[in-house]
Amino acid sequence: MSFTVAIVGRPNVGKSTLFNRLAGRKLALVDDTPGVTRDRRVHDARLFDLRFQVVDTAGFEDVTDDSLEGRMRAQTEQAIAEADLILFMVDAKAGVTPSDEAFSRVARRSGKPIVLIANKAEARGAQAGMHEAWGLGLGEPVPISAEHGEGLPDLREAIIAALGEERALPEEDDDAPAGEEALVGEDIADPDAEDVPAYDASRPMRIAVVGRPNAGKSTLINALIGEERLLTGPEAGITRDSISVDWVWRDRKLKLFDTAGMRRKARVQEKLEKLSVADGLRAIRFAEVVIVVLDATIPFEKQDLQIADLIAREGRAPVIAFNKWDLIEHPQELLAELRERTERLLPQVRGLRAVPVSAETGRGLDKLMEAVVATHEVWNRRVSTGRLNRWLEGVLAHHPPPAVAGRRLKIKYLTQVKTRPPGFVVSCSRPDAMPSSYVRYLVNGLRETFDMPGVPIRVMLRAPD
Ligand code: GDP
Ligand code: GDP
Repeated sequence: MSFTVAIVGRPNVGKSTLFNRLAGRKLALVDDTPGVTRDRRVHDARLFDLRFQVVDTAGFEDVTDDSLEGRMRAQTEQAIAEADLILFMVDAKAGVTPSDEAFSRVARRSGKPIVLIANKAEARGAQAGMHEAWGLGLGEPVPISAEHGEGLPDLREAIIAALGEERALPEEDDDAPAGEEALVGEDIADPDAEDVPAYDASRPMRIAVVGRPNAGKSTLINALIGEERLLTGPEAGITRDSISVDWVWRDRKLKLFDTAGMRRKARVQEKLEKLSVADGLRAIRFAEVVIVVLDATIPFEKQDLQIADLIAREGRAPVIAFNKWDLIEHPQELLAELRERTERLLPQVRGLRAVPVSAETGRGLDKLMEAVVATHEVWNRRVSTGRLNRWLEGVLAHHPPPAVAGRRLKIKYLTQVKTRPPGFVVSCSRPDAMPSSYVRYLVNGLRETFDMPGVPIRVMLRAPD
């Protein structure tokens, strides 16, 4: 069952722009000139996985004319009457005007759920308008840029919160053409984008187990899945001879890419060493979380670090299993030492979870799986634009970016544009001049403040338009 949304607000706040974005039309209907009259329109719309109808109320301009304003109000009221949810939009750049207040009263009178949108949030001075928007008494404003497609994940969240999940989220196996996904945040080039399907808790979490030969991968997989082993595959998107295993751990569906099984299958044709690199990479790309199995009796080797680094660069979430822990004589000292080295050698995934296990005896396997689930959760985490920018204000006050060639670099805005792994866009005056040390400082701050240990975090710098 779908729902209907009305985008409501005074003229020129950006309603048509958002309408066109949600309805998948390209700006053709936006007009800069006040006084252009357009008909009220209803259209199929989508925002990520949300499907709904949107009623556009834009186009009844010239507020000085009383009768026209009356008509505009009537039009707005009619749209509101048809809607299940009101997206009430203000222009954060312009600030809140008496006209906004008048429209907000109309919206509130309806008693329908309202999501307050502060549009043009990317613009200079928008922060003040955001604060004013609070004063409308419609709750926390969701900052977006309808024009640039920013803030839309937060809008999605807010819609779900306002309507309730049951109402807002589509039924399962909704297979609309994937191409339209580009609608949202399309202008943000993400070099690390991978065709991982969108997050869906009902889908199994995909895990791969990688590591050097003899680290204990096969033993670990067999210990994890035990008797419930169930071979499926070949899988679409993975090579024909790959094998995946479905199993359930504490009511969670999991899918494991069984490179070990694959290797057994292929051993006859190919040299082991060569194959293990290729199938390791394939496994990493398949997976959301990758368990790196290290033999704890053999110190870290370059290849182990390369694997973990590769996982991070592929945008996946690594978890380390220090295997063969049953053979270790001074486990506490060794664990402290190994963890310290992990932190030092893999700063790009600071806070990486590393768990001692024995695949042979089964000890530590529950802890390992807990680490996998926790890491997966962080990898999927979304931080609201409001929280990010409140944090950013403090950062800029206490630790602003340095000056380059006598001019201070300015950061205007911070927003999370993707998850899996978390990716952020920093809107700043001169992206090319921003020192990488400062970017690292931001990444570390984000990781600390919003509790995102152990996953790669992407920051993309972008100049304001
Ligand atoms: P409507 O009258 O509420 O439908 O507003 P429009 O969608 O026609 O937009 C009014 C003006 O605001 C147009 O010039 C848009 O290009 C501009 N606009 C819309 N969204 C944004 C935005 O996110 N940022 C900025 N800076 N301008 C925007
Ligand atoms: P793979 O090449 O990474 O798949 O490694 P295997 O699972 O084939 O294991 C290599 C060797 O290490 C085998 O002899 C296993 O019995 C042994 N092994 C694996 N896990 C453990 C463990 O937790 N403790 C001990 N003592 N031996 C293990």
